[in-house]
Amino acid sequence: MVLDHDLRMARARLALDGLSLGDAYGERFFAGPAAAMASEDQPPLVPAARVWRWTDDTAMAVSIVEELAARGAIDPGSLAARFGARYLIEPDRGYGGTAHEILHQLAHGRPWAAAASEPFDGAGSMGNGGAMRAAPVGAYFAGDLDRVVAEARASAAPTHANPEGQAGAIAVAVAAAVAVEMAAGLRPRTSAELLAAVIAATPPGATRDGLVRATELADRGPRAAAYVLGCGRKVISSDTVPFALWSASHHLDDYPTAVWRTVVALGDMDTTAAIVGGVVALAVGRDGLPADWLARREPLPV
Ligand SMILES: [Mg+2]
Repeated sequence: MVLDHDLRMARARLALDGLSLGDAYGERFFAGPAAAMASEDQPPLVPAARVWRWTDDTAMAVSIVEELAARGAIDPGSLAARFGARYLIEPDRGYGGTAHEILHQLAHGRPWAAAASEPFDGAGSMGNGGAMRAAPVGAYFAGDLDRVVAEARASAAPTHANPEGQAGAIAVAVAAAVAVEMAAGLRPRTSAELLAAVIAATPPGATRDGLVRATELADRGPRAAAYVLGCGRKVISSDTVPFALWSASHHLDDYPTAVWRTVVALGDMDTTAAIVGGVVALAVGRDGLPADWLARREPLPV
């Protein structure tokens, strides 16, 4: 599949819209108990706000889309500079503690390899930050899964030196690329197809183990799945990505249902909904994004 840069960028922007909409929707539910009190059978009422504000997940994905627009590839040094610059403009977007430490260093010119490898006594972060921003990478490089894996790893590296943090980014980017192929009619649009492709491409480790467990779950509902897989409360890749991709895989033809069925499991709701939103947007296409939700989402800086 040879596609030109403009078409790839249109897909990356679709992924960004789906991701940011999920992020902003999920974030609303931290304002009250609506998600916890909702049933799993109908959409929860969204806590009211004039604007649904997006968070760090979207801010970092914007930098990735800008990197792809400028280079047609991910250069970790260039991306690190973009992350740092955007962080300096708006450090209050809900970044985690470790992210603040790393991004502050990137913003002031410390080499990314040093900044990313220092946390956790040199192990690097296995957080979900690489995964939450990865859908546009898969969207752009869809059609070449080896390239998706390599570019996803490069997109995580400036902040996540730990292989688990990178595995989460790889899993989400591959899911996004597979969703593109499903939308083009090149693959069956099933949960088993999505999860099998992701597992085949994800490096061994706890995130991949969780994805294997996800294939063994019947759809008994998001809360039951989250009980087994986690739903981001630990804010690490292995506790976030398996549930998010399980949820996405069961609603590949319905964006709003995919997102609200993710949020009612609670946990790291902006990030799980961002991951689901980025993947499912590519499967349903732009017309599948609810216009009334998009109208409420805070505008993007690109
Ligand atoms: Mg966030």
